[in-house]
Amino acid sequence: MFENYPFTAAERFLRYVQIDTQSDPLSSLQPTTAKQKDLSQLLAEELKKMGIADAHMDEFGYVYATIPSNTDKQVPVICFCAHVDTAPDCSGTNVKPLVHSNYQGHDIVLPDDRTQVLRMSEYPYLQKLIGHDIITASGNTLLGADDKAGVAEIMDVANFLMTNKKVKHGTIKILFTPDEEVGKGTAKVDLKKLGADFGYTLDGGEAGALEDETFSADGVQVVIHGVISHPGYAKNKMINAMKIAGHILDALPKDRLSPESTEGRRGFIHPVRIEGVAERCTIDFIIRDFETPGLQKKEDFLRTMIAETVRIYPKVSFDFHVTEQYRNMKEVLDLHPHVVDYARQAIERAGILVKMESIRGGTDGSRLSFMGLPCPNLFAGEQAIHSKLEFISVQDMNKAVEMMVHLAQIWEEKS
Ligand SMILES: [Zn+2]
Repeated sequence: MFENYPFTAAERFLRYVQIDTQSDPLSSLQPTTAKQKDLSQLLAEELKKMGIADAHMDEFGYVYATIPSNTDKQVPVICFCAHVDTAPDCSGTNVKPLVHSNYQGHDIVLPDDRTQVLRMSEYPYLQKLIGHDIITASGNTLLGADDKAGVAEIMDVANFLMTNKKVKHGTIKILFTPDEEVGKGTAKVDLKKLGADFGYTLDGGEAGALEDETFSADGVQVVIHGVISHPGYAKNKMINAMKIAGHILDALPKDRLSPESTEGRRGFIHPVRIEGVAERCTIDFIIRDFETPGLQKKEDFLRTMIAETVRIYPKVSFDFHVTEQYRNMKEVLDLHPHVVDYARQAIERAGILVKMESIRGGTDGSRLSFMGLPCPNLFAGEQAIHSKLEFISVQDMNKAVEMMVHLAQIWEEKS
């Protein structure tokens, strides 16, 4: 099916990464940075040129488009989704992508900052990329494979399906979002307008990766109320809330339940911010676990631990506020097992081993899943994301395109 197809993902990718689309966590605008629209507008225009009549960007920088069905069957509407923004952690201005053809396992020194060296010993996935064409940035910026790889691959799928009409598929929606990296990727999404039944985000790492699980996440804010008095006359009166906060942080387990001491499927309690004066001190925590009941356990543990720390000061009190942040998308995906199952089959048809993974974080897919669009995450090939050493293989990108075309076909076959 792909023998004579001139893949366009890499060519598109090299153009898209040169457009600065960094999002801004401190902005209250939507999108948080206007420059994200430069890419979104271009994508809408390119989709239109392919013959996708309804492709457009809305006022918030979201791109919506429909690849019409070409089958008589009633096929559920699926959506391919990627984000246009790049992470605020690392500059995305003047990205100069470099193609390293036929990689042979050597160190890749980035020319604009020769201290930036991509080594197989530090990035073992490179072992699987011998003979591939690898794209990196030039040393001063991130590359933006997260998630312009997903964007370019979806664009190529659109190009493929619009030019290969013999491949049967149902209605396929395309969605490009801004601001994923600052947690606002779904803030202004219009799922009614999108009109999809199931979705797939293209924002994963190595070829074959299929992610159907994220953390479940809560925030906890603890406010400690101390007792204030003039420091010159404070003997046996003053109880300093900041010092109690110090005791609380010190009492947190050191060899477990923290991000520094956990991996895999273990969750954690993590203080992220502290602010206070002697009278009153606030500690913000994030709580993470793959099981939502596990969140509750960790919160109970934290509350009990704080109560015990505070108990020795009868005049001190504390508030404990829990805010729900997001939930493990597996809770939704398990109700629709075929969504993940078809993705697994599509990866296999593309000739790759499936690698089921759990994300130790949240994705737009987890939010979309709970908003009514069950949405696992598929590999896009991106590696060493949010860093100057970010890289991607052209061959992995093309495999992601193949996977999506197979996926579209599988949905049609099974309907
Ligand atoms: Zn991403």
